[in-house]
Amino acid sequence: MDASLNRFLLEIDQISILNDNYVYLLHDHITNATCAIDPSVAEPVLQRAAARGWTLTHVFNTHHHWDHTGGNKGIKHATGAVVIGASADAGRLPALDIGLKDGDTIEFGSHKATVLAVPGHTSGHIAFWFPSDSALFPGDTLFSVGCGRLFEGTPAQMWHSLQRLRCLPDSTRVYCAHEYTLANVNFACSLEKENRALQRRLQDVKKLRATKQSTLPTLLGEEKAINPFLRADSPILQSAVGLVNSDPVQVFAMIRRRKDLF
Ligand code: ZN
Ligand code: FE
Repeated sequence: MDASLNRFLLEIDQISILNDNYVYLLHDHITNATCAIDPSVAEPVLQRAAARGWTLTHVFNTHHHWDHTGGNKGIKHATGAVVIGASADAGRLPALDIGLKDGDTIEFGSHKATVLAVPGHTSGHIAFWFPSDSALFPGDTLFSVGCGRLFEGTPAQMWHSLQRLRCLPDSTRVYCAHEYTLANVNFACSLEKENRALQRRLQDVKKLRATKQSTLPTLLGEEKAINPFLRADSPILQSAVGLVNSDPVQVFAMIRRRKDLF
């Protein structure tokens, strides 16, 4: 690509941390703004930023769990980065500077993100969507071929949240916070043996994980065809869990329960 065009792209770097967490580094080449999304720990994130020649200016949190916020204080202490997260979770996001609510727009260098409230995994969970960059950071709400567990929300809330994400454009790249894809695809295949797109994803994911490669980001358009948690209103999934013509909330709750026990 033409280097002068490249300058305007949001550069996204993926850091694999702990067992299966991903922290994302976002860099804006025009202003040098650099952001860490959901830093579970500070040191490896600071090291990667330094290796890239970047200095962290922002931390974004999708929710309060320690594996998404454990590095907030260390990064802020080392760099003075501004910590941004849901105002609803002001009491439990370490070192929070700026609180956001649903529909807010946040400027990051020359880029803009829209905040989407997506309760279910936790009550204050938010997602960051960069429409012009076709990038979504859903935290633990949406995984490739999966979704987060319901720790603080109801199935109705989570289904509503996932429907909001499902409305975003097919071309959206989804930067999930965990490498859970292989287990998720195995579960999804137990529900749907005839889904050819799902079978293709299974083969790709097996190959990638055999060499410890990342399966993310994933494409939202593809998730809409293979992720059972985005399709609780589809007759195929309804019949797979024995709930034909049922309320999608009930179907979603049943798929979630079966995954919890899988
Ligand atoms: Zn979580
Ligand atoms: Fe997590």
